[in-house]
Parts: sequence; structure tokens; C-alpha cells
Amino acid sequence: MENLPAKAHQACGHCRKHKRKCDKALPSCGLCVRTERACDYDETPKPPPSAEDFADLQSRISELESRLSTTRSGSSAVFLYL
Ligand SMILES: [Zn+2]
Ligand SMILES: [Zn+2]
Repeated sequence: MENLPAKAHQACGHCRKHKRKCDKALPSCGLCVRTERACDYDETPKPPPSAEDFADLQSRISELESRLSTTRSGSSAVFLYL
């Protein structure tokens, strides 16, 4: 397993569009440097989620779970959530 920090996780937009092999160099891949294009990795790696994000996700998950369980039980209480 190589773990080089200066590499993108995937081919840049230009290489993907033209089905070229991207060397995934950052900030610009070899092909874009040679062709003097602006290299864009449109799906940039997301920053690690903060504790707040986790709390938000968990509350959403538990809300969804409660919706599911109410739906399964056939209760009309589900409409309270909509
Ligand atoms: Zn590229
Ligand atoms: Zn590129």
C-alpha cells in the first residue's frame, strides 16, 4: 500500500473526459501541465467530519429510524414527522 499525500484519489476532470491515464499529481497532473490546462479534480477529498457533523448525522439517523418503526407499526403518528 502506497500512501503518497501529493496524489489525487482519482483522475482529474480533463483526463476522465478524454479517457487519458491521469498521473493524479497535485495540484496539476502531468497531462494538464504539458497541455497548460487548469487541472481540476472536481471531487476533492472531503475534510474529515467534525464531531458536530457526527451528532447531526446520528440525530438524523435516529429520526429516520423512528419514522421507519412508526411506519412499520402502521401508526398514523408518522405524519407528525412530515
Ligand atoms: Zn489528469
Ligand atoms: Zn489534470
